[in-house]
This record gives sequence, C-alpha cells and structure tokens, in this order.
Amino acid sequence: MRLALMGNEAIARGVIESGTYVVTGYPGTPSSEVLMTLHEYSEGLDLYAEWAVNERVAFEIALGASLGGARSLVTMKGPGFNVASDPILSAAYSGVNGGLTILVADDPGPITTQTEQDSRWYAKLSKLPMITPSSPQEAKDFTVVSQLLSEDVMLPVILRTTTRVNHAVSEVITGDVRPPKKYREFRKDPPRYVRAGMAWNLERHKWLNNQLKTVEGLVRKYGLNKVWGEGSSCVVVEGVSYNYVMEVLSRVESWERKIRVVKVDVLYPIPRNFLLDSLSGCKEILVVEELDPYLEESIKALLQDQDLRIKVFGKLSGYLPLEGELNTRVVSQAVSRILGHEVAEPYHDGMIKDLEVPTRPPPLCPGCPHRNSYIAMLLGIAKAGYKRDEIPVFGDIGCYALSVNPPLNAIWTEHSMGASISMAMGLKVGGFDKPVIATIGDSTFFHAGIQPLIEAVNKRVDLLVLVLDNSVVAMTGHQSTPAWETTESGRVTKPVEIVDVLKSIGVDNLAVVNPFEIDEMINKVSEFIKKPGVNVIVAKAPCALLKVRREGVKKKYTVLSSKCVSCLACVRLTGCPALYIGDDNKVKILMDDCVGCGLCARYCPYKAIVEVSPHE
Ligand code: SF4
Ligand code: SF4
Repeated sequence: MRLALMGNEAIARGVIESGTYVVTGYPGTPSSEVLMTLHEYSEGLDLYAEWAVNERVAFEIALGASLGGARSLVTMKGPGFNVASDPILSAAYSGVNGGLTILVADDPGPITTQTEQDSRWYAKLSKLPMITPSSPQEAKDFTVVSQLLSEDVMLPVILRTTTRVNHAVSEVITGDVRPPKKYREFRKDPPRYVRAGMAWNLERHKWLNNQLKTVEGLVRKYGLNKVWGEGSSCVVVEGVSYNYVMEVLSRVESWERKIRVVKVDVLYPIPRNFLLDSLSGCKEILVVEELDPYLEESIKALLQDQDLRIKVFGKLSGYLPLEGELNTRVVSQAVSRILGHEVAEPYHDGMIKDLEVPTRPPPLCPGCPHRNSYIAMLLGIAKAGYKRDEIPVFGDIGCYALSVNPPLNAIWTEHSMGASISMAMGLKVGGFDKPVIATIGDSTFFHAGIQPLIEAVNKRVDLLVLVLDNSVVAMTGHQSTPAWETTESGRVTKPVEIVDVLKSIGVDNLAVVNPFEIDEMINKVSEFIKKPGVNVIVAKAPCALLKVRREGVKKKYTVLSSKCVSCLACVRLTGCPALYIGDDNKVKILMDDCVGCGLCARYCPYKAIVEVSPHE
C-alpha cells in the first residue's frame, strides 16, 4: 500500500509494523505527532500509547516494558534527551530484552527549540547504537529496523531525526503489520539490573563494548549504509542532508562518473569497515551534515588511524556553516568547490530572496488566558508599589513564553523546563532584596516544577509563583496533562490536581484565581508579592483554542468607529492579534479571530468596543 505520510506519521506506522506494544513520550516539536497519530488511528489496535509526565519517566516506562520482553518506543525532542539521559546511560549497562527505540528529534534552525542541540553526541556518550533516516519512507522502515536491531544487540537503539524529516510529507510504501510483542518474562538478575555493585558495573561495561563490536555486522542484513556513483570526489552524507545533495547533483550532468555519494545511516558505532571500503580511491571528501561536525570529525579520526591522507572538507574547513539548517543553496556552493566548477543554484532561491516580508513576533492567541494573567501580574506589581522593571519575572517553557514579546514584555528569562522557580530562588538566595516572580505552565509544573518548589518551600525562600493552568499542553498541539480524567487513547485516569500537589508540598499561601476575573487577580498579586514565604497563585482558565473547540464562541466584540479616537490603548495593552488598524486609522477587529474575551473592551477608555452577537 502507498500512503502520503508525514515523517512522524510514518514512524507511527513503523510502530505498528514493528509489533511495538508500549509507546510513551513527552510532547515536544518536532516529535509530537508520532503519539498523536497513534492516538488518532489506533482505535481497535492492541497498544499502550500514552504521554508521560516527562521524558525521564517516559523512558523508564519504556525500559521497564522492554525488560519484561515487550517492544517499546519512547519519543522526545532533543532537549528531552537531556532530561532522560540519566536512566538512558544506565540502560546501556543493563541492556534490554524487548526491542526499545528512543526517538529523538533534533531541530536545526532552530525552528521551535531553545538550542540547536546535536543529539548525535549522546550516542557516543551513552554508547548506544544510533540510526538516522533521511525521508518519511526511511523513518518508517528504520523504526522497524531499530526494534529488530535493538533485540539483536540487546541495547536500546536511538532513532535520530531532524525537523525536516519529521515534518516532510511524501509517499510511503507500507509493510506487513506484526502482532504486538508484550510481556514474556522478567528474571531476577542483580548483576545485570542493579547498578549498586561496582564490580558488576565493570563487567557490564565490558559487555556493552563487546555488544557494540557486533553492530556493524548486524546492520548489514537490514541494508543500512549505501553508496552511489563511482567518482573520486566523495560526498559523505547523513539524514535529511542526503536530499539536498541529491537535488544539487541532479543538476550536474553524469554526476555518477565524477562523484561518489556515501550515505551513512548508522551514526554510532561509526561503520568503520563500510566507510573504509566506500571511501577507497577517493581523492577528497566533502562531509555534508547539519549541526556539529560529528561525522566529519569521526571520518578524519578514522583516516588518520589508517594513515590515509585524504583531504576532508565540511564544516571545519568552512565549506558549510556550523550553525543553522542546510539548504540546496549552501550545499550547491560546497559541491561546486569540490567539483571545481559552479553548480547552478536552485531555481526558487531567486524568488525567495527578492521577497521582503515584515517581521512580526509570534503573539498569544486571541482570548488567551495567559494574556490576562500577565497583564494582571504587571498591574499587581504596580499596585504593590513597585516599578515594572524592579521585579524580575522568571518565565518557563510553553506558550506563555510569548509574553516576552511586545506589548507585554513580561518575562525576563525562559531557560529550560521547570527552571523558572529554581532560578528565581537562586536570585533571592544570592542576595536580591526585592520580590521575585516565577511563572510556569501546568504541564511544565508537572514535568519539572514540583522539585524546585519543594526546594523553595524547604529553604523558606520568599517567592511569588504563578502557575498558569490552561489544562493542556497547548504549545505542542493540545496534549493531555496528569490533570485530565481521560487520556487521548480513552484511558480513564485518576487525575492529579495541581492544588493538591501544592498543598501537600506546604506552600505558605495559595490562591486559585480565574485570570478573566482580572481585578481579583491584580489584588491577589499585589497581596502575595509582599508576603513572606512561597506564595502561589494558580491562574486557572482553559486554553482559548480548547474552549472554542469545546464550547464554540458565545460572543464577539466590535469597534464603534464613531467612538474610537485611535488612542491605541487596546492594541498597546493587549496585543491581541484580532485587533488591527484600518485605513481610516481606527482600530478594527477581525471578527473571524475574536473569541469574545472582552479584554480590549475593558481597557478602551472611550467605551468604543462593544459586545455583539457571534453571528453578526
Ligand atoms: S482603545 Fe478604544 S478608542 Fe483607543 S484605539 Fe482602541 S478602540 Fe479606539
Ligand atoms: S474581545 Fe478583544 S481582546 Fe478578546 S479576542 Fe476579541 S479582539 Fe481580542
């Protein structure tokens, strides 16, 4: 069967074809759609497919399932691997029983991620096999291969992707579906599973190194690592970069006689024998890869080890950039240099570079409760007698980080999951003598905010924390949180309430406020900001998109042009993207976008914004 699939949908198909039974993960672009696809299409399939509270927990669930013999897969974005890395490194010593694939999706660009992390280094650090697909077809096929390889070598296998593979759509030829592989047995074996015995750990390290020696032989049967062309100029390539290289070479007449393309699918352990065979007779090598010069360094080390004097070009020689995504333009420039003549630039570049598009910072959605929370916070700071820029506001990872943009300009930092509370605490214990505020979303609180709050309560730090609870993991596509009563797969849960967690931690003052009751929230901020101890306001209101989806739009607002004096108070305070300035310089409202939150109307000093029926 041929299907048009996005890379992540193809991986979900690979989950089914590989007989994987347990799939867990934490949402993070560009990896989220794997589990979302399974939720959408898995009705009737025998599968455990659920989000976990964070990547570490997700991996440990997958590992436990695997130790009992079930095939499992865990999904995460690059920084999620950092969170899960502790148990992943230990899992290299225990090994696995059922196949275990760790899908890690990196984000060159970066397009939606805080860093351009290159997770390929984690393969070297953890000593776990890593394979990388270049297309949706390979994403599906390699998911199956990684599960089989994982059982062959008895190690977790890392399936590493990048955004353009995760989100590209192309035709995928499907394969047969295997029945899910579930629990078989779990035998007591302390030397293998207990990391408290140092002599055992030494033995397991030797076992790990021996397992790795078998990988290159094992992957041959799966047809990984390939060569095209017979030229003496060689291009070594991996992942999505393969597509850029092949598109560029399609413009070079009879390129197969001039160039040899060596595609490396197995990134760890580096396939030494394959590379030495494929690169034999090469006069020069161009390494095309995104992010760090991982392959380039490995190939240089291999050639030096073998006393082979072949020139290697890539990022370290300045042929390709060390930052950002690659594209056909930069790859064609690098290929031109090794060919000694210019390869025509892709046809579309001329069109793109002539376009001048005004920049526009991403805004919070119309009717977003976070907008109200931050406005109330800023007004509460003022009401308490502080200047706006006197009180540091630590932000966290989620939609609400968009409050860094005008007109709110609210948060001062956004660092890593859960860091808002601990960094705010750090500023206080470092000697800062005014109040500090940490703002954190509900999913991020569950993910990594609970421990920092325990620390702050335990050390009696004075802190105001706003938990912005919109009841969903909004930014990555509306995934469930532990507060949901039923998960996406229909599993009925025992919901965990944030307020109960906060009470059990022992925060000093706690209030739950609807941010649409803006006066109440302003008063609570101005009251709590001065109180000693850890004071928490849970700003609880559903994500605007979720609310509209569930309840529809019950009212909208419009601007009476006769009353509007173009003072722009509404625009400057709210920054709501449904507001725009018309040709007559009066503010207008995009009726399709307005969800009727009423915030702009509240702050129009001339009462020019009025409620209307949603059908007008
Ligand atoms: S606040 Fe009122 S008067 Fe001022 S621009 Fe907006 S709609 Fe017009
Ligand atoms: S009422 Fe005003 S602030 Fe609210 S969504 Fe509509 S235009 Fe935006």
